[in-house]
Amino acid sequence: MHEMAIAEGILDIAKEQAAREQSGRVTKIGLLVGEMAGVEEDALRFCFSALVKGTLAEGAALSVARVPLVGRCAACGHEQAIEKYNFICPKCGGGLAVISGRELRVEYLEMD
Ligand SMILES: [Zn+2]
Repeated sequence: MHEMAIAEGILDIAKEQAAREQSGRVTKIGLLVGEMAGVEEDALRFCFSALVKGTLAEGAALSVARVPLVGRCAACGHEQAIEKYNFICPKCGGGLAVISGRELRVEYLEMD
């Protein structure tokens, strides 16, 4: 389960940002998580809520935005959502390269 490591990374970012802005409390954390990032949202929430106890992010809301998996054809430039791991371009039969859906990052933080 790598969600604990991810939760630790998120908490580190929140701590750094809070220190930079001289804030005492993080109230909300917005995450961007790609469909192919391999993150179990429930597991991440569970790890995060356990991890933040006693920190400045205790009680912070975790807002998770899922990013769909989208590919672009290297041959013709066609873009489309990738479903069922079908990476073949429907227009020309070329290969689709993933352009979004692997994201895993903190998009924003809200602090008091
Ligand atoms: Zn194509």
